[in-house]
Amino acid sequence: DYKGMSYEETIKVRKTKLSPALLTYYKQPVMVHQGKMQYLFDTNGRRYIDLFAGIVTVSVGHCHPKVTAAATEQMKKLWHTTNIYLHPSIHEYASKLTDTLPGDLKVVYFTNSGSEANDLALHMARLYTGVFDTLSLRNAYHGASPYLMGLTALSTWRFNTPTGFGIHQVMNPDPYRGPWGGKHCRDSICQTDRDCDCKPDECISCDLYVDQLEDGLRFSMPKGRVGGFFAESIQGVGGTVQYPKGYLKKAYDAVHAKGGVCISDEVQTGFGRLGSHFWGFETHAVNPDIVTMAKGMGNGFPMGAVVTTPKIAEVMGTALHFNTFGGNPVACAVGMAVLEIIKEDNLQEHCAELGSYMLKELQNMKSEFTCIGDVRGKGLMIGVEMVEDRSSRKPLPADKMADIWEETKDQGILLGKGGFYGNTFRIKPPMCLKKDDVDFSLEVLRSSIKKVMG
Ligand code: PMP
Repeated sequence: DYKGMSYEETIKVRKTKLSPALLTYYKQPVMVHQGKMQYLFDTNGRRYIDLFAGIVTVSVGHCHPKVTAAATEQMKKLWHTTNIYLHPSIHEYASKLTDTLPGDLKVVYFTNSGSEANDLALHMARLYTGVFDTLSLRNAYHGASPYLMGLTALSTWRFNTPTGFGIHQVMNPDPYRGPWGGKHCRDSICQTDRDCDCKPDECISCDLYVDQLEDGLRFSMPKGRVGGFFAESIQGVGGTVQYPKGYLKKAYDAVHAKGGVCISDEVQTGFGRLGSHFWGFETHAVNPDIVTMAKGMGNGFPMGAVVTTPKIAEVMGTALHFNTFGGNPVACAVGMAVLEIIKEDNLQEHCAELGSYMLKELQNMKSEFTCIGDVRGKGLMIGVEMVEDRSSRKPLPADKMADIWEETKDQGILLGKGGFYGNTFRIKPPMCLKKDDVDFSLEVLRSSIKKVMG
């Protein structure tokens, strides 16, 4: 039923009227028109299984009827800022949201995006500790605002402007590509939740990365003090990178010992996607002082939040702080519906079960193709790193990667792509994905790799 601007016209306007920095997926981009749960439809009515909805924020399903109904009902009543009046929804939602978080993480600041949330978290960490210097991991993505460009330690996202004053990057504990990778562990690859013999206390690569972080604290920080330490629970844009067992716990301990606060960026990993836990940081058994979230929180509706402890929140009381749309009634109605659906439809458990199945099948596919270098992830956040061949671990050349990617799209599945070398397929479907969709997607990936790689 599509009657809007033509495909050709859209391309022309995109080139001339929109930002030249826009990233458009595929040689022949898909012109999306409608979404229904785990599916996207293009303007010709062609259906795709959306294996990358998670990045574009959809968690419980495209246009989930309950979310749409909640937003529509609220839109009929009020869509306004509710930060200067009392309105029940922001209070109800803040209560429900903090119920999902452990310990003292009880005070919420609502924002409209993940970048805004991380901006605020950085600001809070600095105010609270009185220390400007902040750490993040190389290969991390925390947002693209000028303030955050420094935290986001991927050169592809950096502009040639001074950025990131006071931000120091520590080495990325990447077991596959890092200098102290799996080859130093007893098992070939040692990662959180991977089958491996290492116990957290014995993981050699973990300790080397923690030593490097502690060196950073000793040498680069004024009087050895640090303000904040930012980390995702699994790196998303960076290519679904999981840290060695126990790394995050030891890193948090080192930062806390120097008076710093730890910020868990849950923009991609929160809301049950990882299956075993509702929040990604819980999979590392750590207690962050500040948690940031967005994307899946609103199932496609632009919203984000920072949650912290009452003690840290107090520092924000020293001046006025206002966000016009943060926590608006429509966003809160949407957020509430998302939380209810995750619970009612057992989506967290579903992610654990279906994610394990998909991970296992992808692991098995390695025996068919030497160009599948690594398969990793947790729940329905999965990465497939493509290489020239497994023994060299050299990234698959960009043209081959692009051809496989294009082919998977032409055969009906939409995958994400990322990692420092752009050679990791990223899988983050709506959490309502079904086993049949997984089987179909695996078949498409198999046939696409065969077609391109011969
Ligand atoms: N943190 C992480 C981990 C992200 O993946 C992103 C977005 N890719 C952000 C923060 C920034 O979120 P937004 O695009 O909503 O500003």
